[in-house]
Amino acid sequence: MEEKFICSKCGNSDHRYIGFINDKPYCRLCLPFKGENAKNDYRIKRNIKLTLDYPLSPKQNKVSDEVVTCLKEKKNVLIHAVTGAGKTELVYKAMEMYLSLGLHVGFATPRKDVVIDLTPRIQEAFKEARVIAVYGEHTKRLNGDIIVLTTHQLYRYNHYFDLLILDEIDAFPYADNRLLESFFYRAVRGNYILLSATPSQEVLDRMKRDGKVLELFERYHKGKLIVPRIIEKPEYFLIASCLKELKRFIADNKPVFIFVPTIEIGKKLFKLLNIFIKDGSFVSSQEERRKIDIAKFKNGELKYLVTTSILERGVTVKNLQVIVFEADNSIYDKATLVQIAGRVGRKIGATTGEVLFISSDVSRPMIEAIDEIKKYNEHR
Ligand SMILES: [Zn+2]
Repeated sequence: MEEKFICSKCGNSDHRYIGFINDKPYCRLCLPFKGENAKNDYRIKRNIKLTLDYPLSPKQNKVSDEVVTCLKEKKNVLIHAVTGAGKTELVYKAMEMYLSLGLHVGFATPRKDVVIDLTPRIQEAFKEARVIAVYGEHTKRLNGDIIVLTTHQLYRYNHYFDLLILDEIDAFPYADNRLLESFFYRAVRGNYILLSATPSQEVLDRMKRDGKVLELFERYHKGKLIVPRIIEKPEYFLIASCLKELKRFIADNKPVFIFVPTIEIGKKLFKLLNIFIKDGSFVSSQEERRKIDIAKFKNGELKYLVTTSILERGVTVKNLQVIVFEADNSIYDKATLVQIAGRVGRKIGATTGEVLFISSDVSRPMIEAIDEIKKYNEHR
């Protein structure tokens, strides 16, 4: 009998996804993931120290220490931390411990933008380290003391990381993607840490059973999470309602994100808003100029952005206010709404703000998101 084929890259052995060229089997599942693999001969510098230019809060310190304890006991960890808690910092002590032992540390996240944002921040914290970023068109150098990478690039690191951190486990495209998930687990040689503000019940249950779940429900600045307010209007009145709220925010000199469920709705809404209020733009994954628009928004040249869920995570803007247009659309699940609401009130000195759900109906995820945010505020 023929030996069973198991893909060395993703572990697939399901015959439905195995093809043959000249009688030689190949894996069709991970076919698009081709390229050089990282060699495991890189020597980690031994003098790397963590130097943070700002203090951790007492609760952040406590969780960081707990993470270190768990890893010493060889337990994998899920850190469930609310939006704005400063979750990246919670793993720095653990990273320092592994680096001091000459072990390989990776920091993975589903999105390229986050890799680009995160790399200089991690470099700031570990100044002597060679921190490298690996993502899509950026794969020339695969080795360093700390490797920050997209989950798409993990296939290059088979059985490589002694500590692998995965941020935003519930974010697209990692969430519900079995292939990326198998890349992740295959890249781990030692232990892993998962980070999320909105973990699914399934992940929570699994990590409670097989590892350890650590919680941080307090924002870094200790202010409360902003509880969304529902504005329920008949469908024909939604745009007028959105315009009214937008005008109010702009008059107060507050920058605004307006989230829309689809590109079509976004284009249509922006066209109308733009008649009344200039200095805005529409951004989506399809808009080439989105990077320029986001930069303009951050420096105040643009007052508002109509956006699809691409700005759901990551971007932090002082004094930001949020409108979710057609919040009852089925594209918005509880986790997405919690993430979106989490954009507001993040900065020290600007810890308040408003999150408005404008819709013609009230969906179950809207209610669940509001309940969950209230629960976090009570259990800080
Ligand atoms: Zn494969």
